[in-house]
Amino acid sequence: MPIPIQDPDQAPGGALKRLPLLKAAVLFIATVCLCLGVLLYLQLEQSRRHDLELARVASSNLTRAMAQQAEDAFMKADLVLTSLVDWIQVDGYGTAQRPRLQKTLARRVQALGQLHGIFLFDKQGQWIVTSFEDMPRGPGVADREYFKFHQQNASTIAHVGPAIRSRQNGEWIIPVSKRVNDKNGNFQGVLLAGIKMAYFDQFFKSFSIDDNGSMFLALTDGTLLARRPFVESQIGSSLAKGDIFQKHLPNAPAGDAMINSVVDGTVRLYGYRQLDAYPLVVSAASSRDSILKDWYGTAFQSSVIVALVVMGIGLFGWVFVRQVRLGERVEADLRKAKDALKLIATHDSLTGLANRRLFEQALDIEFGRGARQSSSLSLIMLDIDYFKRYNDAYGHVAGDHCLAEVARAVKSCCHRKADLAVRYGGEEFAVLLPDTNIQGALVIAEQIRHSVMGKNITHSGSPTGYLTVSLGCYAFVPNALDTIEVLIERADAALYQAKHSGRNRVAVLSMEGGVEALMRSDR
Ligand code: GH3
Ligand code: MG
Ligand code: MG
Repeated sequence: MPIPIQDPDQAPGGALKRLPLLKAAVLFIATVCLCLGVLLYLQLEQSRRHDLELARVASSNLTRAMAQQAEDAFMKADLVLTSLVDWIQVDGYGTAQRPRLQKTLARRVQALGQLHGIFLFDKQGQWIVTSFEDMPRGPGVADREYFKFHQQNASTIAHVGPAIRSRQNGEWIIPVSKRVNDKNGNFQGVLLAGIKMAYFDQFFKSFSIDDNGSMFLALTDGTLLARRPFVESQIGSSLAKGDIFQKHLPNAPAGDAMINSVVDGTVRLYGYRQLDAYPLVVSAASSRDSILKDWYGTAFQSSVIVALVVMGIGLFGWVFVRQVRLGERVEADLRKAKDALKLIATHDSLTGLANRRLFEQALDIEFGRGARQSSSLSLIMLDIDYFKRYNDAYGHVAGDHCLAEVARAVKSCCHRKADLAVRYGGEEFAVLLPDTNIQGALVIAEQIRHSVMGKNITHSGSPTGYLTVSLGCYAFVPNALDTIEVLIERADAALYQAKHSGRNRVAVLSMEGGVEALMRSDR
């Protein structure tokens, strides 16, 4: 017999399901922490990109300035050489012209601060005249790269060669030279302007770059001409195998690249630019650590703050989860207590059977169901025979044990889920059998009677010598005019008949074709 019990987790009809609060809380906290982490990552990544972008722009501006300065320096030297070569090719460099030529060279060197000196060599590489008053002595410059170049190339455009030490005074210079021809275009010598490496050094030093940064000027073949910081042993060395010359310059004449130095393992942002007019490349590099120095600080601070917030949320979550668990435990205990109370309120403590309150609720429901479905509803009323005498003979405690035994016998005969065994009064029991006709009720009643007899409970006060019960059954199809009381009264009347016709038997009262008939079972 289904009794509607309110599930605290579910509203009637299951419409409003209670939220799994613990899971929701853990999920919410985890999501908040995850979102904070993702936000931190996105924000830091964006500011890192921003800082690198600013560094790229600064690097591009720096290499543009370096390229401009280098081009100016070489172009001015080139122009001076061009005018002098024209002059020499017309007037020659005979002994008569040399004093005037020397003064002209000296004046040009004075006028251009970046020039170390200007030198004119004959076709054997011997000094003819220089911007210096003292003429150097020695084997000449026939072994120099620039001299060999002009000797072998008819081109009259300016040539920039690898850095060398001046044979005049040992100073590091970058040679810019031009071929001198006679009127027929035959090689007559070389005119050389030496640009002070110190000039570039000073210029490089005028920029502020970090301690791990570097700047350099090189030939397009990778030969290093000038560098900051200045390391003498590296001048003239080749950078051709480096990433800039191998990978980046062939693709674009200007740009930037983040390169991991094979020399010191430092990652640097290199800006580079190839000059338009001369075979030269300038480059400036800043270490990634110095570019991102401020970013590292911000990232650390933000990470610590977010970590503290996440820890706070985690701590709060932990406390919250504990509280929820505690609440759930209290709720479960309350639910158990409620269930126990409900059991106490609806069941008899001595026998464990349903009490009259539950019986009445069940009767109400089954009465309605029987009326709706036109199904027969049966009720068995049971009374122990000569029980007063039993109490008198064996005492009340034994009487209680006996009641419990009879209850077990009654219960054991209720086979269907909807069958309800009830302790109706002191030593009276009832069995409600929904959807059962009178024949079915009679079978169950007989089963109960035999089950009690089968327990062989000695009863000296009974004529049989053992404990027996009398049962009255009534069955009918309820309709709107019938009342619950009628059902009970009729079953009770049948029981009365069973008692009066000798006890230890079943009496049946049924509505057969609207006529009440009484039957009794024989022992
Ligand atoms: P009858 O065959 O006519 O039914 O005779 P009876 O002695 O059983 O008479 P009745 O049904 O009136 O008996 C009621 C007795 O049941 C009275 C009381 O001593 C006993 N009784 C009622 N409730 C309890 C109970 O909870 N425990 C015990 N031990 N006895 C009870
Ligand atoms: Mg009685
Ligand atoms: Mg009795």
